[in-house]
Amino acid sequence: MQKVGFFRSIHTKVVLIYIMLIIIAMEVIGLYFARELEQTLKTNFTTSLEDRMNLVEFSVREELLKERSPDDPTPQKSLRTVLSGFTSEDINEIRVINAKYQILATSVLENRGLENQSMKEDIVRKAMTTESVQESTNLEPKTRKRVFVQVKPIMDGSDVLGTLYVEANIEKVYKQIDEINQILAGGVAVSLTITVIIGIFIAQTFTRPISDMRRQAQAMAKGNFSRKVHVYGNDEMGQLAIAFNHLTNQLQESQSTTESEQRKLASVLENMTDGVISTDRKGRISLINDSALMMLRVTRELVINRPITSVLGLEQEYAFEDLIQMKESIALDFSTEEQPYILRATFSVTQRETGFVNGLIVVLHDNTEQEKIDMERREFVSNVSHELRTPLTTMRSYLDALADGAWRSEDIAPNFLRVTQTETERMIRLVNDLLKLSRMDSKEYELDTEWVEFNHFFNSIIERFEFSKSQNVHFKRLLPREDLFVEIDTDKLTQVIDNIISNALKYSPDGGDVRFGVTTSGDFIKVMISDDGMGIPKANVNRIFERFYRADRARSRAMGGTGLGLAIAKEMINAHGGDIWAESEEGKGTTIFFTLPYEQQQEDGEWG
Ligand code: ATP
Ligand code: MG
Repeated sequence: MQKVGFFRSIHTKVVLIYIMLIIIAMEVIGLYFARELEQTLKTNFTTSLEDRMNLVEFSVREELLKERSPDDPTPQKSLRTVLSGFTSEDINEIRVINAKYQILATSVLENRGLENQSMKEDIVRKAMTTESVQESTNLEPKTRKRVFVQVKPIMDGSDVLGTLYVEANIEKVYKQIDEINQILAGGVAVSLTITVIIGIFIAQTFTRPISDMRRQAQAMAKGNFSRKVHVYGNDEMGQLAIAFNHLTNQLQESQSTTESEQRKLASVLENMTDGVISTDRKGRISLINDSALMMLRVTRELVINRPITSVLGLEQEYAFEDLIQMKESIALDFSTEEQPYILRATFSVTQRETGFVNGLIVVLHDNTEQEKIDMERREFVSNVSHELRTPLTTMRSYLDALADGAWRSEDIAPNFLRVTQTETERMIRLVNDLLKLSRMDSKEYELDTEWVEFNHFFNSIIERFEFSKSQNVHFKRLLPREDLFVEIDTDKLTQVIDNIISNALKYSPDGGDVRFGVTTSGDFIKVMISDDGMGIPKANVNRIFERFYRADRARSRAMGGTGLGLAIAKEMINAHGGDIWAESEEGKGTTIFFTLPYEQQQEDGEWG
């Protein structure tokens, strides 16, 4: 923050104003005082002079009116005596002037040469003519001293006998005034110094809390709320300081609330499985959570500040403004040939109350599974319809032929009827299989389990096939000697093993081997059924567990298969907590493995 200049600071201003006010007050008082003093001193001076002059006038008049004797014809001598009696320190000279403006006598010895000379100065004339006292203060050019001149007419009734001319030394009065003024100035200086000191002190009481608050505000701007302003008193400043401290507390509280809200929001965003992206009002990404980064397979540095349309790969179809208007969610298809990957993006606009658009929030949801399920369902329906249509069309053509007269032929009719019978059976099997799968999908069924010794159970199924088989195929058993107890639904597992063995037989060549094996590994037993048959192309090995999948459609249909056997087997094995998979080499043979959980202590025969 900027530093306040010396002359701009309140501190200096207050002190200056203070000094200014004192100076003005002192000046006014001083002026008034000096003028009054001068007036009083001057008045005192003149009154004292006048009093003496009245006495002089009285004595002089007596002398002037006195009968003169022949040995003393002029009053000069006696006038001199009178005048000399009145000379004092402050009276320089007294002259007596007659009505003809002739100086009759002077009190100053050196000026006696002026006696009998005329003196027609203005002030004298004026006093004579106006018959009133005339006064003036003159500066004596030689001594540069002020001289007070008073001319007083000497009256005898209404006659003017002459004038008294007095020159008095008024300089002393001025000197006195000067001295008093000096004392006054000294007093002003001392009081000014004291007021400056007091002023500085008082100003500090204002400015200290203010600069304290300034420092506090600076600290607050940097995020430090721990400081407090010192409260010096309960005046307005003190209350301001209290209010300021209160404000600091409030600010700190709201700041910490905002921070904790932000932390909450951040943790919500980070822990969301959905991706969240927010943009500024120009559509540039300002925030993106980890889920969104993972979904879009990008890094934060790569996408921050980049346009949302290009990051979502929508720049061809949409502008940012279109996304703002977007009411419905849109699917973003990032699927590759091997893997489907579909995200669903929902948009919502962040707006101010005025309607001004602040930005956009995009929520991304991984919709691949849903889309996959939808796709599978569509495929399943089309597969089912297809599987049902094939036997139905076959049956219709045979029934048409029978209706057209083939029923009469004893050679053809039973044959045709057998075909329709087979097709019907096939359809019944298909529908039964579908029902089984649907029951398993909706988890309507329950496993009816019991503890059985697996080798014995497995062997009984193998024996059944061995007795009934029509092909020239050799069965080879690789079964362990020890007892393996498993908890299984025997009906369901019989279906599974039936299907695997019948597949092996279906695809086995004449004279081929079918091997049966059981091993244990950890908490599972692993069952293996392998053949020397035609095998399955590598890419499709694991697809044989999909519904309706058949590696060689024509051939397997000819063998009467629907393509649901292994799909059902997989559901059942999974329901038992096991796993099923296949290994195959084209032209060499196929091996189907499945596992079932078992408990090792059963080996000891404790339970069984
Ligand atoms: P279903 O069992 O419903 O009567 P299916 O045998 O055709 O019909 P699955 O048992 O599900 O159906 O088998 C699916 C496909 O996997 C078969 O059509 C076949 O192409 C292939 N397959 C299964 N077992 C073998 C095997 N042992 N050797 C070669 N191919 C096999
Ligand atoms: Mg089968």
